[in-house]
Amino acid sequence: MIFLSIISCFTCSGHGPSVFLSNEYKPIYKSSACDPDKPFPQMILIPFFEHATQIVPNCQTYPKYKTALALFVFYHKWDEYFGDRNYAVMGMLEKVMIQWDTNKKVGKRGYSLKGEPLKDVKIIGRVETNSMTWVWQGYNHRISQSALFHELVHMSLRAKHGTADPDHEGTKYRGWTSAHSAMIVESKQMLRAFDL
Ligand SMILES: [Zn+2]
Repeated sequence: MIFLSIISCFTCSGHGPSVFLSNEYKPIYKSSACDPDKPFPQMILIPFFEHATQIVPNCQTYPKYKTALALFVFYHKWDEYFGDRNYAVMGMLEKVMIQWDTNKKVGKRGYSLKGEPLKDVKIIGRVETNSMTWVWQGYNHRISQSALFHELVHMSLRAKHGTADPDHEGTKYRGWTSAHSAMIVESKQMLRAFDL
């Protein structure tokens, strides 16, 4: 019996931090819902993620359950790839604010995924603060075809290392590796399995 309980104890601690994401669906989430008859943009709580919110331009972009599921998928993949021993990434997700937009923006400067500097580019996502990101709705109105996960990687890096690494795989700033790019591709594939 002792042996068995030791085994199960080890098994418990082997789950990783993803099990600490609360499965509680709090009453406050119910009252926070998109209302098509009220003015836009509207701010909606994202269920299961404590203080996480989204600002939506209409009720289709995106229903809160879709955004919540996307955040679960992101965290699942992040934990699989990099772990989250001090829960910095979970903490970021639990207070993130996502502002969805139906239009792209034009940026003066930016970097490609490989780190080359770009000028006057159409931008589809941008980290605004430690806890806020602006994201264009994505091609074909799909979260998997938006920059959400890309921006969440920037924010996770900032939460973990203090810098969001704007040049991605480039060498000017550190943090973003090819593993981060691969993690984004894989987690987007997972999103598509949920038709998101
Ligand atoms: Zn970026």
